[in-house]
Amino acid sequence: MSPAHSFEDLRVASVHAEAGSVAWESAFKARLVISRAGDSAPVINVENQATGSSLIQCILSGRTAWRAAAALFFVSPLPGGAGGTLYAVQCANKSVADQLQAALDAAVAGSGKAAANGGAASPSAAGGHAERSAQGGVGSNGGAAAAAGAGSANGAGPGPPWNPPRSPLPPPAGAAEEAGASAQRQRGADATGNGNGGDDEAVGGAGDPSASNHFDRKICRASSDMYFHYYGMLQHQQNMLQDYTRTGTYYQAIVGNPDDFRGRTVMDVGAGSGILSLFAAQAGAARVYAVEASGMAAFARRLADANPALGSRITIINSKVEEVSLPERVDVLVSEPMGTLLVNERMLESYIFARDAFLKPGGKMFPQLGRIHAAAFSDEVLHAEVAAKSAFWMQPAFYGVDVTALHGAATEGYFGQVVVDAFEPSVLVSSCASRLLDFGSVTERELLDIDLPLQLVTGPVAPLTVHGLACWFDVFFAGAQLPVWLTTAPGMPTTHWFQLRCVLQTPLLVAAPNTRITGRLHLVAHARQSYDIFLTLTAPPLAPGQPPQTSTGKFDLKEPYYRQLTPYGAAAAAAAAGFAGTAVAGDAGAAAATGGAGGAGWGW
Ligand code: SAH
Repeated sequence: MSPAHSFEDLRVASVHAEAGSVAWESAFKARLVISRAGDSAPVINVENQATGSSLIQCILSGRTAWRAAAALFFVSPLPGGAGGTLYAVQCANKSVADQLQAALDAAVAGSGKAAANGGAASPSAAGGHAERSAQGGVGSNGGAAAAAGAGSANGAGPGPPWNPPRSPLPPPAGAAEEAGASAQRQRGADATGNGNGGDDEAVGGAGDPSASNHFDRKICRASSDMYFHYYGMLQHQQNMLQDYTRTGTYYQAIVGNPDDFRGRTVMDVGAGSGILSLFAAQAGAARVYAVEASGMAAFARRLADANPALGSRITIINSKVEEVSLPERVDVLVSEPMGTLLVNERMLESYIFARDAFLKPGGKMFPQLGRIHAAAFSDEVLHAEVAAKSAFWMQPAFYGVDVTALHGAATEGYFGQVVVDAFEPSVLVSSCASRLLDFGSVTERELLDIDLPLQLVTGPVAPLTVHGLACWFDVFFAGAQLPVWLTTAPGMPTTHWFQLRCVLQTPLLVAAPNTRITGRLHLVAHARQSYDIFLTLTAPPLAPGQPPQTSTGKFDLKEPYYRQLTPYGAAAAAAAAGFAGTAVAGDAGAAAATGGAGGAGWGW
């Protein structure tokens, strides 16, 4: 046996590839020992540090997986090569992870020397640089270099009997694609030269150019058919109605402001079950036009008929608002057009279409404005979980088929999903950037291309790892008597929108307190009623003379990972519930990020 290389104070997890979950065994600390006998493959032994009892014993393979900051994953093929088990260990910090990575690389390559001197012989161990995790981590740069060294030491033999290290993952989608998308947007703008509400099919996607209304000209039919089918079902309307924070806040905003509604004409844009129309009638509206495109309109009519004292003042119109004609303009618009991250579903465009087409000059909008908020977050478990989702594709013998060629693409796909769940405010690690949209004046073109420059400052805790950007939104009802905010901020009562996180494949390491992180969140509308999201974050270099750390990601807002449905999400929601404040928040959007509303631990 070569000398054992031992790493202590680790957390160990088994990873369930099918479920995409990581079960961290955090109750005890573990020791990982690498040893090898002669020419045979190295062996990993993971044991409970306190008791010495063995947890995992496995043969170390060149298929050792990848790095995620201070966590390290490895696959252990079973003897006979019939598949493998994926394990994860989390080190106390990145430097220990670097050393462990180097030791594993060296052990795989057949050289005990690199590991013996703490991994310094492996180029990958030198920098301790966050960029590496996006390049495949273990078995990428360092692994390949170590393997090459071993090859020459052993002569020109075929190499070790186990697989060579994996090739690096392709870098995450980056600035080049974003530049392309922006250019396309620019061309669209040039082509139409049109301000608001024009029939500019080239902007924000392409529907049917020959359609008779603006909605169908810009939105792809396959998407809108599914969309209105979904909203035509009572269970989905029920889901929204039962979101107490949402419906209760709308009730307060409308019924709590009778001065805005008494004797007025109202349009409910996207009425669904008609609930907001019924609220407007309760607040004293003289006439309400309830416009609903889906089959839900028939149920709204039944509900209005069943509540004649209110329903007699409501006219249900089963139509897209973009194809309605009305005998008059209205005093007030009510609508609930918010999707995930405020803008998903692209229904805000219908709301402002209604403003331009049907609202009297000086008329009121409920809600009046919306804000998107964004802050850096640190969540090792989430990052590891997303990375682990593609572990399935690391199998060299899935029913006899090597599926590893698709691992890189699968990893890209998983990191391209936005994560939707309710998280604890304590994962936020920076100040918050916000983008305000005044529904009274925003143009359609401005909604198609939304830019949020990021100038974030971390708090007093350092070092820390930034795993991406967390986002949420709020809307404001400028009622004459009772102004009300509806917020979806972390730490506030959870809504059916939850919050949203963009996880970067390559995390950033922040070495010092009060560090400035810059970047850009860029949302570009597409014809499937959602947005492509381009995120760039830049943190200072880790050492003098090194370049700044920049990480980019491209996400499709239409492809969410509803983590809220997993036990992890449920646990997060339960934890977040402990922070719950009042149902109607004040200016909570920024407050949560600074610790004010959610008790994030520090604030400024
Ligand atoms: N106002 C209801 C429903 C909100 S969900 C409530 O607050 O409970 C949004 C609704 O808007 C869905 O029922 C959807 O079918 C409808 N909708 C979306 N875009 C629309 C459009 N362009 N024209 C008419 N209805 C639309």
